[in-house]
Amino acid sequence: MPDISMVRPFPASAVPQWDFATDVAIIGFGATGACAAIEARTAGARVLLFERSSGSGGASALSGGEIYIGGGTDAQRAAGFDDTVEDFTAYLKLAGGPCVDEAKCELYGREALDHYQWLKDQGVPYRGNFLPGKHIEPTDDSTLIWSGSEAAAPFCHAARPAPRGHVIQHVGWGGGRPLVNILEARARDLGTEFHCDARAVALITDGARVCGAVVRIDNTNRFVRATKGVVLATGGFVFNDAMRRKYCPDSFRVNSPIGDKDDGIGIELGVSVGGDAIHMDQFFTTCPWTMPESHAYGVFVNRAGQRFINEDCYHGRVSRCAVDQDGGKVYLLLDMAHFVQPLDLAGITIAGTGNTWEEVEAELDMAPGTLSATMAVYNTHARAGRDPLFDKQVPILTPLDQAPFVALELNFATSYFSFFTLGGLRTSTDGEVLDRQGQPIAGLYAAGRCTSGLPAWGHGYSSGMSLADCTFFGRQAGKAAAA
Ligand SMILES: Cc1cc2nc3c(=O)[nH]c(=O)nc-3n(C[C@H](O)[C@H](O)[C@H](O)COP(=O)(O)OP(=O)(O)OC[C@H]3O[C@@H](n4cnc5c(N)ncnc54)[C@H](O)[C@@H]3O)c2cc1C
Repeated sequence: MPDISMVRPFPASAVPQWDFATDVAIIGFGATGACAAIEARTAGARVLLFERSSGSGGASALSGGEIYIGGGTDAQRAAGFDDTVEDFTAYLKLAGGPCVDEAKCELYGREALDHYQWLKDQGVPYRGNFLPGKHIEPTDDSTLIWSGSEAAAPFCHAARPAPRGHVIQHVGWGGGRPLVNILEARARDLGTEFHCDARAVALITDGARVCGAVVRIDNTNRFVRATKGVVLATGGFVFNDAMRRKYCPDSFRVNSPIGDKDDGIGIELGVSVGGDAIHMDQFFTTCPWTMPESHAYGVFVNRAGQRFINEDCYHGRVSRCAVDQDGGKVYLLLDMAHFVQPLDLAGITIAGTGNTWEEVEAELDMAPGTLSATMAVYNTHARAGRDPLFDKQVPILTPLDQAPFVALELNFATSYFSFFTLGGLRTSTDGEVLDRQGQPIAGLYAAGRCTSGLPAWGHGYSSGMSLADCTFFGRQAGKAAAA
């Protein structure tokens, strides 16, 4: 019998016996796999779902359960925001930056309102109220927050700003677990057959077509025939150091990977049958520097005392741009009107203080006239409500001139810069895995963080974009596989 390997497909002709037969086999039971299962069952296909852990969840269950939805939801309208499909789509495209998949942005832009209704139809509760301010996740059970760079340049010039972070109604952080529970219950009610402690280790091919998978259960290889298709929903590769070293070396600048194993096997399986892995260097990162909220009014400088971003952007965009700076750290500058002791969990420390910005500059061992000149220019223009360098917008744009002053250190190695990968298999809007010529690989589908999707560019990420991508394109993959 040929070797079983994730980097080589196993030929159907060598399968000793088929242990399972189904129409659609789904690998991975996070939000993506659950949504794929719901749609494939709804379309009438037999569905087997294999999950390597002892239960559903993955990174999805660890998440905040926040989904990026726009175009004029009930919650947006009730809060007085007149979001449109055009503005929403324009934002999605800008957020994709150089990695954008325009077709996915356009499809999701058009269908996000229906997707929101679909989530509600599955039983996901939304209170429908808006919580103003800058929040990473709501601390009460509010269900709409600002979750991106919508009100900041350059985004606000291309698309009218509106909050689009729709969070499952749930008190406090961690709405991902209840979100997955609801989707799991729905997938089970519809008749999905679920095997846990079952790890896919290879794809099976019949000629050029993927026709099944080898799944290891109780340390035994089981051969799964999937007549209509296999859907990969296995998550990203943030915990696979070898893959990160090869494809995403910049992610080693930060230190706190988040997710649930995320070993990249789905990407390897897709590549083993000719799939194209794209934007593998992209990663999301954030340090919770906007907590407490008054810190959102601060100014960031690098080790040379120079600004590098309009700080009114989403905390993740600012953090990602920070990690591009040399020297392993950046400083958040605050005056007494805005300083509050940082959260312990953020690992943000006080690096310098002073009664003038010159004194802070000296404490940070910066050359005279660097940081202090930055703050003189910033304050002069902020008093006039302008930021000619980075186009930061009022009201976050405000002078920092109430002594004493402080420089907080965000250190890439010791502060909490959580991160996960964004690159993965190239797929069509129907979730077909594409080869390097852009042609679908027959019988193979994928969605979620084992693919490159809506959140394609780390510098443009907004909270909720990953789960928007997982839930919506998971559904697309399930439907297409069942067709
Ligand atoms: C703390 C935290 C908070 C977050 N908050 C948000 C948020 O609010 N909004 C948002 O959009 N994003 C958020 N994210 C990111 C988001 O949760 C993930 O990117 C997303 O859930 C990935 O979903 P997925 O279905 O692709 O993968 P997962 O949810 O990780 O599911 C993959 C599943 O596949 C299984 N699997 C893997 N390999 C195999 C195999 N070989 N055989 C069988 N099973 C396998 C895994 O065990 C896992 O259960 C957050 C992430 C974290 C960690």
